[in-house]
Amino acid sequence: MTYPKIKESMCCAHCQKELSDSFVTVRDNFLIVKFFQFADGEDNIFCDNDCLANYLSAEEILIEGSEQE
Ligand SMILES: [Zn+2]
Repeated sequence: MTYPKIKESMCCAHCQKELSDSFVTVRDNFLIVKFFQFADGEDNIFCDNDCLANYLSAEEILIEGSEQE
């Protein structure tokens, strides 16, 4: 069985955008087992890296003393 499962209509797990050409998915086994909840990978399908980062609660932290615009 392929993971994530390719379906006829797929949408991004974060923004729900419909996907047609390609998608981003996480291959890390720990995250697949412990973080994502659907066995078929339904919630491990994203339209781009930004949506994936948001879904994983990744955020940018400004380092003190660094130059900011
Ligand atoms: Zn998205």
